[in-house]
Amino acid sequence: MHEQTIAELAIGLRAKDFSSRELTQHYLERIARLDPRLNSYITVAAESALAAADAADLRIAAGNVGPLTGIPIAHKDIFCTNGIKTSCGSRMLDKFTAPYDATVVEKLSCAGAVMLGKTNMDEFAMGSSNETSFYGPVRNPWDDTRVPGGSSGGSAAAVAARLCAAATGTDTGGSIRQPAAFCGITGIKPTYGRCSRWGMIAFASSLDQAGALARSAEDAAALLAAMAGFDPRDSTSADVSVPDYSAMLNADIAGVKIGLPREYFGDGLDAGVAASIQAALEEYERLGARIVDISLPNSPLSVPVYYVVAPAECSSNLARFDGVRYGHRCDDPRDLEDLYKRSRAEGFGAEVKRRIMIGAYALSAGYYDAYYLKAQQIRHLISDDFRNAFEQVDVIMGPTTPSTAFELGANSNDPIAMYLNDIYTIATNLAGLPGLSIPVAPTGAGLPAGLQIIGNYFEEGRLLNLAHRFQRETDWHRRVAATYA
Ligand code: GLN
Repeated sequence: MHEQTIAELAIGLRAKDFSSRELTQHYLERIARLDPRLNSYITVAAESALAAADAADLRIAAGNVGPLTGIPIAHKDIFCTNGIKTSCGSRMLDKFTAPYDATVVEKLSCAGAVMLGKTNMDEFAMGSSNETSFYGPVRNPWDDTRVPGGSSGGSAAAVAARLCAAATGTDTGGSIRQPAAFCGITGIKPTYGRCSRWGMIAFASSLDQAGALARSAEDAAALLAAMAGFDPRDSTSADVSVPDYSAMLNADIAGVKIGLPREYFGDGLDAGVAASIQAALEEYERLGARIVDISLPNSPLSVPVYYVVAPAECSSNLARFDGVRYGHRCDDPRDLEDLYKRSRAEGFGAEVKRRIMIGAYALSAGYYDAYYLKAQQIRHLISDDFRNAFEQVDVIMGPTTPSTAFELGANSNDPIAMYLNDIYTIATNLAGLPGLSIPVAPTGAGLPAGLQIIGNYFEEGRLLNLAHRFQRETDWHRRVAATYA
């Protein structure tokens, strides 16, 4: 059953070839057998999953079915889940049980999806390798000496290893697209505001966006359709109607203008990844698309700008973890100050502390203009680059990441090398644009590579359409590492 896509599973459920309980049990058995090595789940919620599966089976029996009814999925552990531990990959929240569901979680359960559990992630979503998690690193299903990418590394590995049908993730600077590329799956980060952030633990509020990790664009379309939409509880959520993504998948793409930013194909791009991207672009040309050279001149500044803006926002967002209201509290504090200091020193890991310090520094009175204000100005220029580009082309394509998955530990002592993993993904977050990654031909070393497709605001449907048309012609998205087939 685990080899089937969401659309295939939905047919099987409706035809009563198997029940949602049987399907859920099958996935739970796979998780118990295969995840000890992978470490993609922080929490497996077997009991509530089986209860949700039984409820889905009743809905199916009553003929009340949608595309996700009875489908087992997983949530990144950044989304609050009522009654189930929500850790955000941190010791700070190791003992935290959320008292409510995030909007995205609530919408997916209303659509009948069954939550198998919560997936591993970099601590507070800060990372590109899943190595900053308090619960230990996740391994890449294609090569278990390598990272799955981050911060939604648990979700990406679980989807790639067929330990769930699909999963949610979040993307602040690349955390859906980069792990999707490293694990050979499809991941979409929608337009900022497309999905509600309510109940999604905040890292950098002006950049964070929820999205879907799935095997195919078709599956991602089903998930996103259920997740997206206006939420009065999130003042940054967009009041824009959600189109029928599934109905848009097969539209003709002849004549679509694809922009290739020259900055995304320069030094630093691995030759194997470049060759795989080239082959994918040729497929798009065969489908009738036109390739146009463009420039995003400020894109080399996106990583430095991000590493001012994101830490600044995180230093403010993470101030709430003070040992008083919720989260980790140190033993026997001497006084209030000691309580704050030791609770935070013990609860947060090294990368989170580094970001809080950078952010507090960039926002401090003497440096605000030099760093934060300057970064915000350049952020505007980066958005303007995209605006100019979308006057010439319909979508932008390029590699999702400069390399394939690296070895565990390879970048651990060099934060800058780690940060550069997101060189092609971060600019879209700064501009608030949607981006998607799909698997293309693996490199010579046999590791997955991802093609990134960036669209204009609220053009998720077009991105999914372009991805689906490619997936109709190729089968990279159907490949599974042998251990998990
Ligand atoms: N890798 C980036 C960071 O470490 C992006 C993370 C994300 O998108 N959540 O901040």
